[in-house]
Amino acid sequence: MAVEYLRISLTDRCNLNCVYCTPLEKQGFLPHGDLLRHEELTRAAAAFVRAGVKKIRLTGGEPLLKKNILELVRLLRAIPGLQELALTTNGLLLGDLAGGLRAAGLDSVNISLDSLALATFREITGSDGLDKVLDAITKALAAGFAGVKLNVVLMKGINDGEAADFARLSVDRPLEVRFIEFFPANERSDRLKDALFTTAETVKKIEQALGPLTQVPAAAGGGPARVYSLAGARGKIGFISGRSDYFCGSCNRVRMDCTGKVYPCLFSPATHDLREPLRGGADDAALTGYIKKIFAVKADYKKDSASAGHIEMSSLGG
Ligand code: SAM
Repeated sequence: MAVEYLRISLTDRCNLNCVYCTPLEKQGFLPHGDLLRHEELTRAAAAFVRAGVKKIRLTGGEPLLKKNILELVRLLRAIPGLQELALTTNGLLLGDLAGGLRAAGLDSVNISLDSLALATFREITGSDGLDKVLDAITKALAAGFAGVKLNVVLMKGINDGEAADFARLSVDRPLEVRFIEFFPANERSDRLKDALFTTAETVKKIEQALGPLTQVPAAAGGGPARVYSLAGARGKIGFISGRSDYFCGSCNRVRMDCTGKVYPCLFSPATHDLREPLRGGADDAALTGYIKKIFAVKADYKKDSASAGHIEMSSLGG
């Protein structure tokens, strides 16, 4: 499968403390000098595009904590050949930035939200910012993005009772609500391993409450989500079933963290480092060649997520 999708984690910092994501013992943040600067990120991203990447998603940590994010979006959007620039955020800072991000050239935005109830939102994230996230959803829809999606992780006994409430959000607005299967990734989320709430269980809850889901044909390059809609709905409902459905065979993505380490697979070791050639004077052709070599070994890392080791989603971005 050709690699066409790059996820860049812009920062290891986050303004939430989610029960299944933030490490139990955060070691402190990376020194500023370790992080790629805007020009380095842009040069690296352009090299990925020359090597075949068509879509880039900015993630984190919380990507909207990155300094001068609007300038960075403008720089990345100007890369010749890049077809789509997207961002995944927890939404806390998005309300004020949605219009500016759109104007800077961001094409689409995914907002992570796991509860519509204040007490549960607080229990999961450690924050009282639910209203800010709800407001950000409205502002993102008004800003004219090509796509606005909600990322929802349901966990048994915590927020699984909200499956239908989330699905209902797709009825009146052109919003895609995506249910992402929880997977134990680090020591903290290991403690919640019995909380897996599968796609099949989610579908059952939604259909019991709101009627049948009809499958929508998958868009080209649409990734691992299976997408459905409720009768008469303006939006859609997607499912990403990393635990119950093995989708390595259709994976077209690689990841780069905020220090320039490249991960051919979410579960691969961090053995590829772009910062060295970037700071060592490599020219554009050499960077592209280095990236093509990483793409060539991607297949070696394919692995069932259930048997993988620990991954820090809070810094790598999922
Ligand atoms: N801060 C941004 C946000 O909240 O969207 C971007 C980074 S966050 C790590 C990206 C996504 O990873 C979120 O939608 C989050 O729910 C998801 N995530 C983190 N840990 C996860 C886990 N153990 N299982 C499933 N999804 C996870």
